[in-house]
Formats: sequence, C-alpha cells, structure tokens
Amino acid sequence: MKQYFDRLYKNTNSAFMAELRRNLENNRKTFIVTANPEAFMFGEKDPEMDALLMDDAVTVVADGIGIVKGAAMLDVQVAERIPGVDIAENLMQYGHELGKSIFMLGSKQEVLDAMCRVLAEKYPNLTIAGAIHGYVPDKDAAFAEIAQAKPDIILVALGIPAQEKLIYKHFSKFEKGIFVGVGGSLDVLSGSKERAPAFFIRHNLEWFYRIAKEPKRIKRFYNSHVKFIFRVRKEGRKLRG
Ligand code: UDP
Repeated sequence: MKQYFDRLYKNTNSAFMAELRRNLENNRKTFIVTANPEAFMFGEKDPEMDALLMDDAVTVVADGIGIVKGAAMLDVQVAERIPGVDIAENLMQYGHELGKSIFMLGSKQEVLDAMCRVLAEKYPNLTIAGAIHGYVPDKDAAFAEIAQAKPDIILVALGIPAQEKLIYKHFSKFEKGIFVGVGGSLDVLSGSKERAPAFFIRHNLEWFYRIAKEPKRIKRFYNSHVKFIFRVRKEGRKLRG
C-alpha cells in the first residue's frame, strides 16, 4: 500500500496544472491516474492495476481527501487534492486556448450529447475528434478509433479501474495525447449531474454529498473507503514498528 503513496504527485494543484498545460502544448504523451482509495485497494488485488500504478510513465495524483489524509498517516508529503473533475475542466480550457482536439470515451450517450453542446459553446477552439458512449460492448474497438483520430486529449469515463486498465492496454499505440480516467466528471461538466455545493467541496465533504444523493454508493464506499482506512492504519503501524 505504501508504495502507491510514494508514487503520488507531491506538488501543488497549480504546479500540476501548469505542467499539464505544457505537456499538452508540447504533445508530450501523459497518462494521469486520479487516485481515490478504491484505486489503491484495487491495486492490491489486481496485478494489472498494480502494474500501472507502479509504472513511472504514469502520473498518480490524489483525487480525494482520503488519499491526502492517508499519505499524511504514512509520512508522505502531498501538498493538496487534485480532483479529476478539475483536471478534465482545465484540459478543456487549455485545449481551447491552444487549439487542440479532444476524444471522449465513456458515460451515457445523453451525457456526451450535452457535453458536446457545452464544449461547442464554452470552448469553441477545442475540436471534438470523437465521442463514444461507455456502454458499447467492444471498448478495444473504440480505442482503435481513438488511435486513428490521433486526438490531443483523451478522457475515459468508465469508472475505476476499468478506465485506467483500458488506457494502459492501449497507451503504447499512441505517440501523443493526454490520457485521463475521469470517472463521473463528464456527468458533472455536461451539467447532467450537479457537483457538490461549494460548502461540501471546501470542507472536503464531497464524498458525503455523493453518498447522500446516491445511497446506492454506500456499499461501494464501505468496501473501498472504510476498509482503506483500516488498511492504511495497519501500514502506518508497520512503518513505526
Ligand atoms: N460508465 C460507463 N460504462 C459502464 C459503467 C459506467 O460509461 O459500463 C460511466 C458512467 O456513466 C459514469 C462513469 O462511468 O459516467 C463512472 O462514474 P462514477 O460516478 O461511478 O465514477 P467515480 O467518479 O465515482 O469514479
């Protein structure tokens, strides 16, 4: 578990965003994993997830407060959260400023339709290279289409760990592109689902808001986040002897 925390990006949100913009500008191929407790818990169970979390070619950022707090418990200094939804939104803005292109894979068709309308209105200089919803049976074929389109930004919204594993499987076929698994970010950025009000974000209670809105998330929350806390505590005790 500790090895995943050591892989985390340590600097501030603004430093990260500046690097991201430079990578996009210079066509530097990048794969970002926005880690939440679930991601690290999957890593311990799933060899593919473990391999990608440990790969130096992959940038791992602390999406949620659970990862930032867990890092502190294991004496890993992480400046702050870098939420995936902010990465997705900033990429759209940078892409617009730099005249780049975007491909989206995942989420529901109506979410993609709404997202395309938002992009055309708010980020008209960002070209939409393609959009394929996340319920097609053959995701590898979808990725072959992405490879043909050679987009600059690739957002994959299938949920953890499917989105990360899919990107990792196809990453070597690409010469450029900023790849991010964005979970439910397109639901929010398209206006289809509300992000938590500022109060919840400010007090690091976004996770609580999401459960309150969607109680079916409770089981998932218990299986990842609650077990995660016990797991990190155990690792902390090991560390301190
Ligand atoms: N999704 C998908 N295909 C699937 C399962 C999920 O496209 O087979 C999408 C779903 O529509 C949602 C996203 O994946 O947009 C996952 O969202 P969730 O909020 O569960 O992810 P989180 O942000 O919690 O990782």
